[in-house]
Amino acid sequence: MSVGLVYDERYLTHDTGHGHPERADRLRAIMEKLTEDGLLERLMRIEAKLAAVDAITAIHSPEYVERVAEQCASAPGYLDSLDTPICPASYEVALLSAGGAIAAADTVMAGTVQRAFSMGRPPGHHAERSQAMGFCLFNNIAIAAEHLVRAHGMERVAIVDFDVHHGNGTQHVFDQRGDVLFVSTHEHPRFQFPGTGFEHETGNGDGAGATLNVTLLPGTGDAEAREAYEKQVLPRLEAFEPQVLLISAGFDAEADDPLGGLAWTTDTFDWLAGKLCEVADRHAGGRVVSTLEGGYNLASLARCVSTYLRALLN
Ligand SMILES: [Zn+2]
Repeated sequence: MSVGLVYDERYLTHDTGHGHPERADRLRAIMEKLTEDGLLERLMRIEAKLAAVDAITAIHSPEYVERVAEQCASAPGYLDSLDTPICPASYEVALLSAGGAIAAADTVMAGTVQRAFSMGRPPGHHAERSQAMGFCLFNNIAIAAEHLVRAHGMERVAIVDFDVHHGNGTQHVFDQRGDVLFVSTHEHPRFQFPGTGFEHETGNGDGAGATLNVTLLPGTGDAEAREAYEKQVLPRLEAFEPQVLLISAGFDAEADDPLGGLAWTTDTFDWLAGKLCEVADRHAGGRVVSTLEGGYNLASLARCVSTYLRALLN
């Protein structure tokens, strides 16, 4: 299977300061592991480009985008909350992270590769329309989804988010939209940041029923997680028949992650990739676009991403 990888060394220049979990070493650890496992040479490199500002404002308010640019220019500092530090390069790197997701989507739509993984940072799924949150500046996956609708005429886009944290930003952006299905599995919001993603949140207006939140109690391991996918997530995806499948791929549900409270093993990311690709093969011409979200134990992150990419290649 042909799989593309978006990576750019400029992603390393978004400096979050000493001791921050969302750090450049995450990508260094993954690249080292992919090299060691012989996967890097099997992946087609896709060049990241800065996202055009109008691709960003398709999701975020123009005032917010301006504010990100201004505050980064006067950085170091924080954007909206103390968990989201920024440096002078952060605005451009965030544009490049969103642009990487768009490039991954475009390359898959062109048929150059069937599946792609955009390995950018900062991550995106917590970013709201007008607010940075949880290490996220621009919502990369939402920007790619909207690009697929506007530039490629997609009428049914599914987003699956298996990060241990609820993808609040993504859910809220598409809350009232029926053409973008948002499915998230995450640690129960009573126990985990950001405190949203209850099962009664199912979408509103035209988007009623187009949001599915599956909450997992702390300590949930492989068997229960896979059962949730078998019983809830996969049937919902099958019924929606997406034309393209997007994945917010966070690896912080792995047992060793310092921020997550779930207990998945590395094998579950192999299993998930296989199951999600099967759905894409049946309905979406095999088109799968993944973007990196969380994962904060360097060794476990590198191992999980390598396992996930190996599964995408098979
Ligand atoms: Zn996360």
